[in-house]
Amino acid sequence: MMYFMKWAVVLQLTVSLLSGPLSGDVVVKNQGINEEDAKAVAESIDYEKIVDEHKPNELGQVMIVMYHNLVSDPSKEGYYARTPENFKKDLIRLYSEGYVPITMTELVTGDFDVPAGKTPIVLTFDDGHPSNFQYLEDGTIDPSCVIGIFESMEREYEGFGGKAIFYVNQPVVFGNAPIDANKVEYLLTSGYELGNHTAGHVNLTEVDQEKQRSTIVKQAEYLEALNGNSSFHFSVPFGQKPKDYFELVKGEGWLAPYRMVSSVNVGWNPIKSPFDTRFDAYDLNRITVGDDDYELNFWLDYFKDNPGRRFISDGLKDVITINKETMEYLSEGASAQKRVLLYDEGGIEWKTK
Ligand SMILES: [Zn+2]
Repeated sequence: MMYFMKWAVVLQLTVSLLSGPLSGDVVVKNQGINEEDAKAVAESIDYEKIVDEHKPNELGQVMIVMYHNLVSDPSKEGYYARTPENFKKDLIRLYSEGYVPITMTELVTGDFDVPAGKTPIVLTFDDGHPSNFQYLEDGTIDPSCVIGIFESMEREYEGFGGKAIFYVNQPVVFGNAPIDANKVEYLLTSGYELGNHTAGHVNLTEVDQEKQRSTIVKQAEYLEALNGNSSFHFSVPFGQKPKDYFELVKGEGWLAPYRMVSSVNVGWNPIKSPFDTRFDAYDLNRITVGDDDYELNFWLDYFKDNPGRRFISDGLKDVITINKETMEYLSEGASAQKRVLLYDEGGIEWKTK
């Protein structure tokens, strides 16, 4: 059953990825449900109760977390490396404080299914390090690698679903060259995504524009052969963006026939909601891991102290629920795609188009 459900998720993601980031275009999706049924389902939902109980804040902030590898020696931990024990501790804290992993595609399309009262979060891993995904000699998944720890979370914490994106280079991925087909199949059928980190982990500021283009396109071809998508998510190597980067990657044609749909930076702060007019899928800051200021635990403490700043889901995939006061930040693209439910002390109302 789980297997089937995860396939369904992959199909949904493929549809979402093709539809691209929120852009102001109206995307009509076949929900597999006729209009009458949809109306009946909508009418059975007690929207006021959801608002009273959860105070949804779908224009609140979201975190994208940047990991690289796991290390067995605690003295080798850093702002992108954790021991397996501390990585699991991070996941347990996220779970117990109401964070739900979603994929990068779900983030940039705004199409995610996060229960009411919970907060979406995106977990990212750069460089395809062996500690991300290893099999033991008997063919089972190493319980101390990232995927093994996600699996143990799924067994031990009800409702936890491992989702993440792995930004990889060539030719070595997760310690294998060429990439291990079993690992690819597992990832793509289990809620994970592979992202583009250039073919050769190239510092884009140190090469000319043609080399910048060719190393991104070469990796896009490689990923398309694995997942069938000509659209891809990108992580900038070393966090170093060349001159005119945004103009180039957002423009039509530079990477044709491939299309970059998001780009992550190294960073130190949460991002705006994907429904916020200030959300930029090509300039997504990530939070490093660790316990220093502006790292993961710092921000988790911050959102504990400032719950009103945090994205809180309404649990309704096709509805954006926001406090009326924040309406000025709602993007046109988001309100064209979904129904918008507004609330204040006076009650709830649907935003008119
Ligand atoms: Zn890297």
